[in-house]
Amino acid sequence: MTPLFVSADEVARLLPYSECVPLMREAMIALSDGRTRQLLRSILDLPEGRAFGVMPGAMLDDGVFGAKLVSVYPDNFLAGGPSHQGVVVLFDPATGAPSAILDAGEITAIRTAAASAAATAALARKDASRLAILGYGEQARRHVAAIRCVRTIERVTIWGRDFAKAQAFGGIPCESAEEAVAGADIICTVTAASEPILESRWVEDGAHINAVGSSRAGPAEIDNALVARARFFADHREGVLAQGSEFIRARDAGLIGDDHLLGEIGEVFAGRVEGRRSDADVTLYKSLGSIVQDLAAARHIVGKLRAG
Ligand code: NDP
Repeated sequence: MTPLFVSADEVARLLPYSECVPLMREAMIALSDGRTRQLLRSILDLPEGRAFGVMPGAMLDDGVFGAKLVSVYPDNFLAGGPSHQGVVVLFDPATGAPSAILDAGEITAIRTAAASAAATAALARKDASRLAILGYGEQARRHVAAIRCVRTIERVTIWGRDFAKAQAFGGIPCESAEEAVAGADIICTVTAASEPILESRWVEDGAHINAVGSSRAGPAEIDNALVARARFFADHREGVLAQGSEFIRARDAGLIGDDHLLGEIGEVFAGRVEGRRSDADVTLYKSLGSIVQDLAAARHIVGKLRAG
């Protein structure tokens, strides 16, 4: 058994957003078509707010299967290190042997932002140009780069709890989340906040929101009113109904039922579910993250490496 090892640098070199955005689109269509299999993410809580996530899945078109094993150490951010580290392991469908082991931190960083960009391309207004980012960590940086691939961005506003870090990020630093999202056409919430940092009353009609930071049941970045107001789409219906905190909180409050989840983003991409209906709609893409995205990205990288 000699699996191929792929470093973070190689992942970054071989997975540009220009390639990853269409890959994520195809992967999410495959998921919604039933051409993939995945278990819901399992999370083992560790002491001090840390966690270990296990995500297995399979792509039925070519039979590639595998898993992501990822640690989440939120406190690493303070020390200047990555909060998500781990491996994506691909298996050879012909022999059942592990065929490749790839850096999961870099794949996660790129594929998550690329998936949000694909959702933004489908759901944001065509003329959307003002981007607000809540958070200034890894995903914040990645989302600015990825979303620039799908819309012409003329203004980026940034908010985080530490104004000095928002200043250091680049773009227009803001003292409050309310200030950052004022007039924004696209809003990305990419924080480790456990309670909502974005309120409906600050969001203008016509905005598109990528809600990314909460990827498990528990923490929520968006208030119930915004969930109820938005045309709400999920990366994976079953996952969001079970683990999408913002949706679950609004449902538990009696504001929405399961039918408020209008569809999976793959169904929107495939044209089976209507996304934005008017320039006044608020659209919301809830990203929990899917192993299918990791496998599609890893398969693409390994294919390029093997092709030389
Ligand atoms: P980082 O550790 O790089 O950044 C975390 C960010 O969250 C920082 O801006 C941090 O700033 C901020 N933050 C932490 N606590 C709070 C709080 N209570 N209120 C407001 N801001 C807070 O993480 P990443 O950028 O890699 O990931 C961001 C989030 O996205 C994480 O929760 C992560 O689990 C999630 N994620 C989701 C994925 C998906 O597929 N949906 C994939 C990958 C990540 P400060 O502490 O200074 O306020």
